[in-house]
Amino acid sequence: MVMWPLRDEKVKYFMTMRLYDTAQVAVVDIELDDHVRMYVCGITPYDSTHLGHAATYLTYDLIIRRLEDLGHTVQLVRNVTDVDDSILPKARELGIDFLELAETEMNRFSEDMVALNARQADSEPRATESIKGIVDLIGTLVTRGHTYTTEGTTYFDVTTFPAFGKLSHLTDQEMVALAAERGGRPDDPKQRNPLDFVLWQPSANGEPSWDSPYGSGRPGWHIECSAMSMSALGPALDIHGGGADLIFPHHECEIAQSESVSGEPFSKYWVHAGLVAYQGTKMSKSLGNLVFVSDLRKEIDPRAIRLALMAHHYRSGFEWFDDEGPRAQKDLELLVRSAGGAEPVKVGPLIDQVRNALDDDLDTPRVHQLLLNEAQAIEGGVASASPGCLVASASLCGIEL
Ligand SMILES: [Zn+2]
Repeated sequence: MVMWPLRDEKVKYFMTMRLYDTAQVAVVDIELDDHVRMYVCGITPYDSTHLGHAATYLTYDLIIRRLEDLGHTVQLVRNVTDVDDSILPKARELGIDFLELAETEMNRFSEDMVALNARQADSEPRATESIKGIVDLIGTLVTRGHTYTTEGTTYFDVTTFPAFGKLSHLTDQEMVALAAERGGRPDDPKQRNPLDFVLWQPSANGEPSWDSPYGSGRPGWHIECSAMSMSALGPALDIHGGGADLIFPHHECEIAQSESVSGEPFSKYWVHAGLVAYQGTKMSKSLGNLVFVSDLRKEIDPRAIRLALMAHHYRSGFEWFDDEGPRAQKDLELLVRSAGGAEPVKVGPLIDQVRNALDDDLDTPRVHQLLLNEAQAIEGGVASASPGCLVASASLCGIEL
């Protein structure tokens, strides 16, 4: 199979990365200062890292690697949602303290991320350690008239933020339906508007509880991220990321809270990663079909997991099939063999094309093909093919050959 003519294709070069911005509904030039503030919604540590997590976090890892390659420094903050509506019932079910469950799963997540060669976050704030900031932020929202309290629960009043919906571009009806599906309580009679959301609520029996001016209780999920991102990175971020299922309601609510306090755009760009399905079915905990990274790592090299994920575009919610792992392992072996332990060479047609493909809305399927084509060209004895450039290009994508 001869595939290397791709190397001679005419390439359109971009001056900067171009990425799809959810708010602008378009692929746009990502214009950034030297220092980039990136916030990515992290895990709720109640279950092991599955392939969907890996695909999401490796998407931002690749963006960071390319931004650094372009000369930026990137400050990555990835929170840990260690108190919310999903971790508490799971800890109860297991009969252990929620913080113990969080600790175990956070360690597993870190091990998986290290194995996948993902950049470490500069900080990983935990919701339970950010309660003061959360309470203070709610205080500002209260003072400015964005809230109301009914029977001990404090809500954000969406009528005080007319731009609500500007990220997801959904109609009110669509937002109400999605809120119900994703943990919101639009039919809660205590709410004035079905789209209002919880900032602070009384804890149920056995749940953790903190004192606050709004009564003792615990925070809502959305306010946690507004508080953690603003305290770590300031009121305005450059890039905010997370899985596409967070666009609404989570990120829409973050915008309403944060901008009501700061009066400025919360994030310059919103970049979302698509969701992974398994053999044709949505990958979800309730369906019991999660593919865990720790299991996959027993079968194939973690570098092959990265390579396999690169074959899918980050925005195209993709399906994972069991034969992809072994195929990626073979592809990785081809890359390693053709690289032959060469020293990295950061100049050459291959790395130019790889950089260009990354800049083109993170076109990793193209990068994947470029790497394999180069490896085949090396094995086929094509004189212009460069093992050193292959090593540098793969390294740029987090794969050390
Ligand atoms: Zn978040």
